[in-house]
Amino acid sequence: MTPPPRWLFWHRRDLRLADNRGLALAAAATPALTGVFVLDPVLLEAPDLAPARLWFLVESLRELQQSWRHSGSRLLILRGDPAVVLPDLVTRLQAEAVVWNRDVEPYGRDRDRRVQAALQARGCRVETVWDQLLVEPQALRTGAGEPYRVYGPYWRSWRRRLEQQSQLESAAHPGLEPLPPPTRLLDGAAELWQGLALLDLQASPKGAAAAGPDPAAAAPLATALPPLRFAGIDLCPCRPGERAAQSQLQAFCEGLASRRPAGAAAIPLCRYEPDRNLPAAAGTSGLSAALKFGTLSPRQAWAAAQRARELVLDLGGAEEALVSIGVWEQELAWREFYQQALFHFPELADGPYRPQWRHFPWENAPERLQAWQEARTGVPIIDAAMRQLQESGWMHNRCRMIVASYLVKDLICDWRLGETTFLMRLVDADLAANNGGWQWSASSGMDPKPLRIFNPTTQARKFDPEAEYIRTWLPELRHVNSVDLINAEISPIERRGYPAPIVDHRQQQARFKALHATLPRP
Ligand SMILES: Cc1cc2nc3c(=O)[nH]c(=O)nc-3n(C[C@H](O)[C@H](O)[C@H](O)COP(=O)(O)OP(=O)(O)OC[C@H]3O[C@@H](n4cnc5c(N)ncnc54)[C@H](O)[C@@H]3O)c2cc1C
Repeated sequence: MTPPPRWLFWHRRDLRLADNRGLALAAAATPALTGVFVLDPVLLEAPDLAPARLWFLVESLRELQQSWRHSGSRLLILRGDPAVVLPDLVTRLQAEAVVWNRDVEPYGRDRDRRVQAALQARGCRVETVWDQLLVEPQALRTGAGEPYRVYGPYWRSWRRRLEQQSQLESAAHPGLEPLPPPTRLLDGAAELWQGLALLDLQASPKGAAAAGPDPAAAAPLATALPPLRFAGIDLCPCRPGERAAQSQLQAFCEGLASRRPAGAAAIPLCRYEPDRNLPAAAGTSGLSAALKFGTLSPRQAWAAAQRARELVLDLGGAEEALVSIGVWEQELAWREFYQQALFHFPELADGPYRPQWRHFPWENAPERLQAWQEARTGVPIIDAAMRQLQESGWMHNRCRMIVASYLVKDLICDWRLGETTFLMRLVDADLAANNGGWQWSASSGMDPKPLRIFNPTTQARKFDPEAEYIRTWLPELRHVNSVDLINAEISPIERRGYPAPIVDHRQQQARFKALHATLPRP
């Protein structure tokens, strides 16, 4: 009997086995399936690679390698330019096809075109599908046939589309139903892997270890990864790996097992609407890195929200709970809105979407930027948020909006400086969401609201009224009363080395508006 053909599945931002559309397609074609992850030096050596992201990636890969073992086959981890590494691997393994899930980012799309051409030049088949979005980026168009630029109508159309998709669900069109992981895959014979410069993450608990029977080939892999130096593991709400993503999703959408069945009140998702804006409460899912790296699929997140809705309806349909579930679904839609925007308008990655903003006379004072980056602006809500980012690799969404507005509108620094600072630190940094969030805050993006300026004091009063969040991240100010913390009015005696505010919000607001008025009219 002829053995089944060997196919490769190339993991990128889909570090899981369950509900992985490309992987399911490959596993349906052949059991002789091998996983590959390529450590691309362009991404690994980028100056904006955050230690927190490297930690999340390596830990997730470590688990994925084990999961592949349990499925019967293996995950190969290699380093190099995918357009070179993959065709070489295909030739060596005599693989018939390579499958992967599509990307929206300009670098990823260009890389994928190069890889596809190189593989096809060697006679290898390439199959690609969409996986990281509930709705494919080309699926929705405005009445005029254009891609969406405004979130509101996008959300309505996206929601309708999901309803249609779940109605159309069938064996041939799996729609939104999460798929199980592949099982009973077939590994290759031992000789296949000999001499391959593979990275075995199981070998070293601390980081990467080179493995492979051929020491000469393995040698360069001693330096395959930059040093792992993220110190905020215990403070970061995002947990790496597919298993942790499932537990986090379950805890958020169903409540902790120990508290079940205590009703909707015990389910964090059902309190999302009131809690999501309070940075001191753990009121959001903490799933952003899981969704970014694909240790969780958006369909799994969506399905969990639908189950929560059914449960709430069974329990009598508490209004707050139903509203909360709907609001969380809207956040999942924001994620997709920004991804489809980047897909259709890749120029977003290069600068302001609104052309007049290219002429904005930014002041970019280095000492102000540095004070913001180092949590020394003298405004406690800003510094607490920047400290959270520094120490935990993550920041609450409300605070991301507050610090972004402050950098741009109070310190009059180009939003791209903030965008890069976030990329260098965030565990969940994602080009589409980060760029979207910054352009939204700067008013240079697709958002139709002309000029949005946050007053940090008003924001702190509304969303951290007891200054709990401020005290958590600025313990050196624990002795100061809440009103003074919120108002950034700390007496010189109480400051104890903490700086006075570096700018005055009112003055800066007026200055920003004056500069904005000099921009050419659209
Ligand atoms: C300036 C700025 C920069 C940001 N940079 C990023 C980034 O690099 N990566 C990132 O994932 N999010 C980014 N966001 C969006 C948002 O802050 C985070 O997604 C959210 O804080 C993650 O926490 P959570 O997982 O607990 O979210 P939840 O509130 O539980 O939301 C569920 C999921 O929906 C998505 N989501 C929620 N809000 C948004 C949003 N406004 N835009 C896009 N997706 C959203 C995320 O995938 C999130 O995990 C940014 C927002 C701003 C204002």
